[in-house]
Amino acid sequence: MKLAKLIKYKNFFFSFAIGLITFVAISILILYITAPKIPLLGFHGIIDLEKPDQVFVQGTAFQEMAYNKQDLEPVLDYLLQNNYWFLSTQELYDYFLTKSQPLPAEKIGKRPIMLSFDDGYKTDYVNLLPLLESLEKKYNQKVKVVLFINPGTLATKESIASTKLGCPEIREGLQKGFYDIQSHGLTHKNLAKIDPKTLTIELAEAQTQLKQCTADLDPNREVGTHIAYPYGSANKQVEAAAAKYYKSGYLYNSKFFNHCWLKNRYQISRLTVNREKSPQSVIEMAQKSHQVKRDRC
Ligand SMILES: [Zn+2]
Repeated sequence: MKLAKLIKYKNFFFSFAIGLITFVAISILILYITAPKIPLLGFHGIIDLEKPDQVFVQGTAFQEMAYNKQDLEPVLDYLLQNNYWFLSTQELYDYFLTKSQPLPAEKIGKRPIMLSFDDGYKTDYVNLLPLLESLEKKYNQKVKVVLFINPGTLATKESIASTKLGCPEIREGLQKGFYDIQSHGLTHKNLAKIDPKTLTIELAEAQTQLKQCTADLDPNREVGTHIAYPYGSANKQVEAAAAKYYKSGYLYNSKFFNHCWLKNRYQISRLTVNREKSPQSVIEMAQKSHQVKRDRC
């Protein structure tokens, strides 16, 4: 009799424990899924379909990763008409990664998003900048874009036909208030596959050269203080080395950035955007953003 009672209690305890664990696991999953997200969109080059003869839009890699200007425009129209906040890397750091600054009152209720463009293509200047300028005239609002650049591959006066930006073009976009200039390593090496000495050069020299190009236009010293790892490739060693020079590190892993659950600011997720993504699907990514509240999480 006693044994039967004991077995009954044991069974009850196990059922209760399993029920409790399931409940906690489902609750955590729901909290994670519904946590506020910030879409950090990762573009590369921009193609203007009305100018098919542009010499700097050649190459399979460029074409595969690029996005059409004519598809980007309706996306930006939507964002400008729907109260989005175009984050710089420093704003993401101050307001969402470290929460070291109180949210400005005028940002409450806005939907944060980041538009980033990797590799420093000439098209950031020739095709993207004029679009941003015309949208500013239309909406009286600036769209801030983050350019993750490899200063070791910039165009020089000698390489005038280069597919990459030159320092004067970077300076112009920065001076006009559209560009947030950040690092993508010196020469686009896979940082997880190089020796420690080369890794240090790729990280440190990229920062030095970006600052050399822009120092007089950057009173707050924000240029080259954040990095996007080339190919989104990083490991513990890369993150530790990056932390010596940069405040945060961006991946390229097609995941939404979830600041409330982020443990490591050198593993910031970005979403891939290329020509396989229709304007509507990019708008749907943007719609995952949330209206910022004072407590942020
Ligand atoms: Zn890249």
